[in-house]
Amino acid sequence: MFDTVLIANRGEIALRIQRACRGLGLRTVAVYSEADADAPYLQAADQALCIGPPAPGQSYLNQAAILFAAKISGAQAIHPGYGFLSENAGFAARVEAAGLVFVGPSAECIRTMGDKVAAKRAMRTAGVPCVPGPDQALPSGPAAIHAIADAIGYPVIVKAAGGGGGRGMRVVHEPATLIDALAVTREEARRAFGNAEVYIEKFLSHPRHVEIQVLADSHGNALWLGSRDCSLQRRNQKVVEEAPAPGIPVAQVAAVGERCAEACRQIGYCGVGTFEFLYENDAFYFIEMNTRLQVEHPVTEMTTGIDIVQQQLRVARGERLSLHQADIVCTGHAIECRLNAEDPRSFAPAPGWITDWVLPGGFSVRVDSHAGAGYRVSPYYDSMFAKLIVHGATRADALDRMRLALAEMQVGGIATNLALHREIMDDSGFTAGGVDIHHLERWLAARAVA
Ligand code: ADP
Repeated sequence: MFDTVLIANRGEIALRIQRACRGLGLRTVAVYSEADADAPYLQAADQALCIGPPAPGQSYLNQAAILFAAKISGAQAIHPGYGFLSENAGFAARVEAAGLVFVGPSAECIRTMGDKVAAKRAMRTAGVPCVPGPDQALPSGPAAIHAIADAIGYPVIVKAAGGGGGRGMRVVHEPATLIDALAVTREEARRAFGNAEVYIEKFLSHPRHVEIQVLADSHGNALWLGSRDCSLQRRNQKVVEEAPAPGIPVAQVAAVGERCAEACRQIGYCGVGTFEFLYENDAFYFIEMNTRLQVEHPVTEMTTGIDIVQQQLRVARGERLSLHQADIVCTGHAIECRLNAEDPRSFAPAPGWITDWVLPGGFSVRVDSHAGAGYRVSPYYDSMFAKLIVHGATRADALDRMRLALAEMQVGGIATNLALHREIMDDSGFTAGGVDIHHLERWLAARAVA
């Protein structure tokens, strides 16, 4: 049991977690870098402590500083948010070793899921459908490796077992380039992730990105909370997310969701998590599990009515889930737009001072943001300054509501992607539903030519 939570993150998610804590009557300790010293959300915390200079390595990734802040503030739990230390098994282990609660799964679970080959093996065992390809270390001989790729069928993709952030992957279209691609990816992986293990799987050419949110307690109970579609991406970065994934039969989502919940039970998973799938030709293929809260969790909250962050804190406190799978009813449709401070043409981050700030409002409109007039979007961190989320009775209603909200929202002083989102909401491909992960880039390329 704990009554004080240190929030080891910044920005909108730090505020989101703070609100969840307050809703449960928990005290909060905010930590911040020198670049965030003026952030308004710090005022709302019970205590705020500076943990270092702006560079993430010296502040939000500085494990010793964060553990020290927990010690002097008396926090008994640490919520890592997303990004930064949220999927760092070593940090989770240090938190546990310090006698504190890491608000997330055990270090062991994070380690297993952080190794994509081990994760794939665990998922297959639980009956979760995976991308065709072995879930064992690759053999060393070229002939044996060729035999594996031939059996999968070209094109294949070579991936780093320890990869993340869309790096450490290479598509191979023909046998002649396979061995070289393996060597290059291995070397890249060794340098970037400190783990040279690579594996091969089928490359899917036009998949959708569909994911399943799960919630599990420490008593062996696990639930799945519906699907999300995050196919609208640019350079592997999600731009728009929605729940549920449009056009996929409810029974098919339920079958996969059940396998995800079963996988959680089998590996002793506790907390919230996301199973990411590629969806192609009416089939789900597991690619990875994120062992943390996701940026896009609000669309699931809007469709299920469940406060995912409060549930996450409750299970971290050792509480038994009071919900049962039959209680989880997904109603209507929710859409989230990620609003970034960026150049509308080059997409380069464009930090700066926000001078004007008009938020949209009305029925079923939600803005998750730490920003406002007078706030400076920092050059040191991610350029996302707000998430605009709407809910509607149907997908068409949600789209209409999002168009209105985007028209109402005004942000001055910085360049943003608001105009891009307005255009996306009128794109016939997107509004029809079910686009693949290359749709946005194709659409942007066509727009650039026109
Ligand atoms: P990361 O941890 O780096 O995000 P993922 O395994 O989630 O890595 O893959 C990131 C992205 O790479 C996916 O969203 C998808 O666009 C692409 N990708 C990964 N595996 C495949 C595959 N087998 N076929 C096609 N695209 C893939």
